[in-house]
Amino acid sequence: MIPLTDIWKKACEYIIEEISSPVSYRTWIQGANPYKVKSGNIYFSVATTVNKNMIESRYSELIINSILEVTGEKYGIVVTIGEEQDDEETEEKEEKKDDSSIHKTSTKYTFDNFVVGSSNQFAHAAALAVAESPGYGYNPLFIYGGSGLGKTHLMHAIENYIHENSPKLKTTFITAETFTIEMIEAVQKKTTDSFREKYRKTDVLFVDDIHFIAGKVATEEEFHNTFNTLFDSDKQIVLTSDRPPEEIANLAERLVTRFSWGVKCDIQPPEYETKVGILKQKAKDQNINISTETILYISDNININVRELEGFLTTLSAYSKVKREEEVTKETVDYVISKYISVKEEERTLTPKMIITAVGKLFRVSEEDIVSKKRVKEIVTARQAAIYLCKNLTELSFNKIGEYFGGMDHSTVMHSVKKIELLKENDPELKEKINTLTKDLKN
Ligand code: ADP
Ligand code: MG
Repeated sequence: MIPLTDIWKKACEYIIEEISSPVSYRTWIQGANPYKVKSGNIYFSVATTVNKNMIESRYSELIINSILEVTGEKYGIVVTIGEEQDDEETEEKEEKKDDSSIHKTSTKYTFDNFVVGSSNQFAHAAALAVAESPGYGYNPLFIYGGSGLGKTHLMHAIENYIHENSPKLKTTFITAETFTIEMIEAVQKKTTDSFREKYRKTDVLFVDDIHFIAGKVATEEEFHNTFNTLFDSDKQIVLTSDRPPEEIANLAERLVTRFSWGVKCDIQPPEYETKVGILKQKAKDQNINISTETILYISDNININVRELEGFLTTLSAYSKVKREEEVTKETVDYVISKYISVKEEERTLTPKMIITAVGKLFRVSEEDIVSKKRVKEIVTARQAAIYLCKNLTELSFNKIGEYFGGMDHSTVMHSVKKIELLKENDPELKEKINTLTKDLKN
């Protein structure tokens, strides 16, 4: 059981990563206070109707997903102005024991509600095999693929299956990010022994988004040791990543090798039929009354990924309820699609700021240095890479790009683009970095 305030604190760490402007973060997110959990919803109190509208229209999906990351469970959110009092006595009593705490393991993601199609059938089969006999054969199981394609879902499905069928086995589920944070804290507090102990005495270790540890040398070292200990005693390891081990930039070679020892399976974006199947499943999970015909209509008219589809359905259901429809109608679908698409387009516009942030992270150069006039070699390369990406990934002119980089003139910007094009030819590492960034930023 984790107190609600702690969940929210952790969720905020995800949210802050996603919101580029500190002002927006302070105003909308920090201004919201979670105060109770009831019927699968987390209630937030905010000060004004503007705060309420902003959260509901722009940030609800992000908040829901961040809480999902932390708890492994999908909670709805309800935003109220000030704290709302309960008037139904009995209901309150029933909920009381869970009021401000949440159980950690997720029962929501199972094999039963995972829709199988040719895009994911290998990953599904391997996951089920591991769930049935952990530690035998497929070790480690390495699942990779783009965002929202069901990697985390499959991991939870394995864990839930094991809890049900082999309750004696001890499982540990963690994101690579939490692993990193815990390790850093353990070093600071000199509790590395108990930190190690915790991971090494588990029977099945799940690490979500393992690519996060790449290039973090101490964490890689620690994970390497954990991996060896577990592997040598036939304990199961399950990992997910957005790409195969050999394509994870900066990942230590010995980890690349180890991650390839067992079975690697990729998940592709779902083909039409699978997507329809997933939509149907999600509608069922969310108790939405919608005909197959309308589901087909949605699939034909909106091209978004699965994670977005889920948020879309939630919004759709909310509108349909407001209109008191017995069943979701096409008119409501059309309305929500038009609203949704305009928000998405706005969010998708890539800005030089986003590019500079991403380049700074990968090249390990501060954002200030990138836009400065410093001539240190590493900084210059990062700056040129950022300029190159601005040219390739945005519609901005050379002059406009120059403005973002401390008022650089047109010809210097052009020179930077040419320089990177040349360097890429002879420097595979740089080429790899540029490719990684291009892929990530386009996502
Ligand atoms: P990833 O970890 O790959 O980014 P998630 O596992 O978090 O993706 O999946 C995102 C959402 O899409 C989840 O709600 C998940 O249940 C759903 N989803 C993805 N693929 C499927 C599938 N094949 N069947 C059912 N739900 C799916
Ligand atoms: Mg995931």
